[in-house]
Amino acid sequence: MTTNSSKYNITVIGAPGVGKSAITLRLLYQEFVDDYEPTKLDSYQTMMDYQGQDVDVQITDTAGQEDYASVRDTFLRSGEGFLCVFSLTDSDSYSHIEELYNQVKLAKSMEPPQLPFLIVGNKSDLESSRQTKTEDAQRFAESLGVKYMETSAKNNENVTEAFQFLIGMLVESRSAETA
Ligand code: GDP
Ligand code: MG
Repeated sequence: MTTNSSKYNITVIGAPGVGKSAITLRLLYQEFVDDYEPTKLDSYQTMMDYQGQDVDVQITDTAGQEDYASVRDTFLRSGEGFLCVFSLTDSDSYSHIEELYNQVKLAKSMEPPQLPFLIVGNKSDLESSRQTKTEDAQRFAESLGVKYMETSAKNNENVTEAFQFLIGMLVESRSAETA
């Protein structure tokens, strides 16, 4: 097992209540936290495995203050990979994705397929309350040139896979740079 000494940042963005903190805490602590304080911006360190390498990952869980331009600028600047979350049960949160995508693209001066940006439809366990169809979100993501996944922080579905996907993009792009 080799150790990759550099650190990668993943920033979790999206409308309030979509499950950004639940996804983050599910990844970090393997549990579902029902009533996480919604007004914090938190940063966590963790280790993830990427193809047999230990990768040092910093996860930034954004919240509430995204409306304040200065906070938004800060996380857009420090973020490297973006996990852009909406709730499958809240079409309003889905309608914010394009704006977030445009902001990230602008801040990073990067376009897909290089742009490490993943669209995540969370709360897939609440199938009966679903407001966004898989095919629609999939087609929308394709039109932007990014990948789409559905997760459930509650049932622990696809959460690790979502972070793994972004880590993969970051590791690959950095190793391409230094090759
Ligand atoms: P945030 O504002 O985006 O950080 O959202 P939170 O993580 O605080 O979650 C908002 C609410 O949605 C909380 O009541 C969570 O328990 C709930 N929630 C988050 N993820 C899921 C999920 O995958 N399934 C279900 N059923 N509820 C979820
Ligand atoms: Mg939160």
